Amino acid sequence: MSATAEQPRTYEVRTYGCQMNVHDSERLSGLLEDAGYLPFDKDAEGQQADCADIVVFNTCAVRENADNRLYGNLGHLAPVKAKRPGMQIAVGGCMAQKDRDTVVKKAPWVDVVFGTHNIGSLPALLDRARVQQEAQVEILESLDVFPSTLPTKRESAYAAWVSVSVGCNNTCTFCIVPSLRGKEKDRRPGEILAEIEALVAEGVSEITLLGQNVNAYGVEFGDRQAFSKLLRACGDIEGLERVRFTSPHPAEFTDDVIEAMAETPNVMPSLHMPLQSGSSKVLKDMRRSYRQEKFLGIIERVRAALPDAAITTDIIVGFPGETEEDFQETLKVVREARFSGAFTFQYSKRPGTPAATLPDQVDQAEVTDRYNRLVELVNEITWEENKRLVGRELELMVAEGEGRKDAETHRLSGRAPDNRLVHFEADFAAVDGAPRPGDMVTVEVTYAAPHHLVADGPVRALRRTRSGDAWERRTSEPPAPKGVGLGMPSIGVPAPLPDAPVCG
Ligand code: SF4
Repeated sequence: MSATAEQPRTYEVRTYGCQMNVHDSERLSGLLEDAGYLPFDKDAEGQQADCADIVVFNTCAVRENADNRLYGNLGHLAPVKAKRPGMQIAVGGCMAQKDRDTVVKKAPWVDVVFGTHNIGSLPALLDRARVQQEAQVEILESLDVFPSTLPTKRESAYAAWVSVSVGCNNTCTFCIVPSLRGKEKDRRPGEILAEIEALVAEGVSEITLLGQNVNAYGVEFGDRQAFSKLLRACGDIEGLERVRFTSPHPAEFTDDVIEAMAETPNVMPSLHMPLQSGSSKVLKDMRRSYRQEKFLGIIERVRAALPDAAITTDIIVGFPGETEEDFQETLKVVREARFSGAFTFQYSKRPGTPAATLPDQVDQAEVTDRYNRLVELVNEITWEENKRLVGRELELMVAEGEGRKDAETHRLSGRAPDNRLVHFEADFAAVDGAPRPGDMVTVEVTYAAPHHLVADGPVRALRRTRSGDAWERRTSEPPAPKGVGLGMPSIGVPAPLPDAPVCG
């Protein structure tokens, strides 16, 4: 037993990086609660400590200075731990997979280091470190158990991530994923659908299918159309209102997926399609096997089948060897594709990736200048696209934790079918009371900003949902002292959608 009944120990998981890590952290929390630990609540009555008994870092290795940040954070905890007998620190995720026992060499006060393939071992490693009084480092080279079979503490009552695969078979030269998350492993469709059905039975009405490259889903069991079949099968799940997915890969994006999106009513008209660069030469250097024409062709076919689709993307500027002409090609694609949002990155060397050693690294001042010009164009286009929605009536799923200024503006926030963020006036005179997170409201858009919409004016319709009921149950029940079911939601405040893409 990891935490005694008399003295339950507390835990906190600090998450960095992409949605994969966010979802892995839901599993780490589930595992720790199953082992008897309680979530740390800084504001709880009688709480004297500033951090939990167990602090878990779920790290990301994507940024150049990710290691400095990790070791800086660990350094801050060293004196805290020295004064607190029994406190334990664990480091998992991509940095742990990459740095392995270097972590305990650089930070000998760390108790456990675990990798991306063995998150299920965390409670046992914490126990072993405590009993043996020495650091435990366990890194596996490949997955032992598919993570979705582990207990999961879902952060939201109404929306959930569901993994379809882990790992990636591509070899993009800027990406660390293949070396840290390994080859793609696909879950069987029946297992995925069973997880979704269980979530829907608990009150979830929106799911996001998650994989580094969802279009490659099925490669392991030899079905190239497995992803479109999965989308269609989601359409048959009663009570499932919204299905999203991230991220597809342009190289493997096939028309059967576009058809399935267009013909399956609960698959939402939103698509995150990573461009990375508009220059075919740079794409070749990145070892991404599509070219500009193919990317624009996909966008054109998506627009023809789903005229209202919001298409978002990821773009890297300043990849080694990128010239001003190459950069102009990226701007050209941005103008033609008319993205409704873009995660934009300045290329930075990611240790362990092939691109980090390429010649012709672009001067930082030039990278910054291109980045600023790109952001300006992206903002101009996203704003124009958002303005087209002013006057349109939209049904929103009410969200929690997505409107930082909601309290001062007397608004609530929600997500449109195409995933746009809408802040709407808390005027419920025309409907039967206030909505709860997970309920649906109909509003008219009155104003557009580059990154969100505003709907001031009375809410026109309110549809109370099972998700709203589930949210209400969660928030009215006292926190459970222990225990989460396999893949089942549990107590917790839904986190805002993370703003980092899966496939970087
Ligand atoms: S960028 Fe995406 S597709 Fe490319 S290797 Fe990384 S995870 Fe795979």
